[in-house]
Amino acid sequence: MFCRACDYSLLGVHSGRCPECGRAFVPTDPATVASFPGQPSRSFRHLIGWLSALAIGLPAVAAVLGDAPFLIILICMVPGIIGLGAVAVGLHILRSQLLGQPPRILIAAAILAPVAWIVLVISLALHMRVTLGGWPTRLGMAGFPPALATHADIALGLWGILILFTLFVWPILLIGCAAIPPARRAVLPLGLFALAHAACVGGLLLMPSPFLRWWFD
Ligand SMILES: [Zn+2]
Repeated sequence: MFCRACDYSLLGVHSGRCPECGRAFVPTDPATVASFPGQPSRSFRHLIGWLSALAIGLPAVAAVLGDAPFLIILICMVPGIIGLGAVAVGLHILRSQLLGQPPRILIAAAILAPVAWIVLVISLALHMRVTLGGWPTRLGMAGFPPALATHADIALGLWGILILFTLFVWPILLIGCAAIPPARRAVLPLGLFALAHAACVGGLLLMPSPFLRWWFD
């Protein structure tokens, strides 16, 4: 029996509070105690479930609607499916308790990096609607006021970094971490990154066609 907040062993603790971090617990309530250090909480399992559904569902819907470039659908779906396997392996590694749990900051960064990018893209679309009164009719940034051009530059630049990382760095990191036993606990965050990436690129592919035309040209 372990604290869900700090993994402190609660065996023999009768005060109902973790001596390490003060979190309240009820020994008979599995929602308040973990059966092994780092056991994923119910909310974390829900997050993984939602991410998996969005990672597969959004690109699949985009593929059916047929507005999105096929290559981009592949670029997000293939790592997403591999990421699903990596998350399953990562959870198994966590359950086996042979290695410590991955740092929470790494998990947060893996999910939040693609999410921050898609928030920037959605805000760019809104910025366009407000500033231009509609979607761009010309390719590139001709006619964009400086603030909108900067906004677009940052969103497109981060997209380039995200795609290069996912295609060329992420697979090497995943193979490297899976092959080196002490690094295996990074498999879960790497899997979560691929799921978040697939879900966010899937979100981009479902944006209005005139925006997609501008984005990919
Ligand atoms: Zn604690």
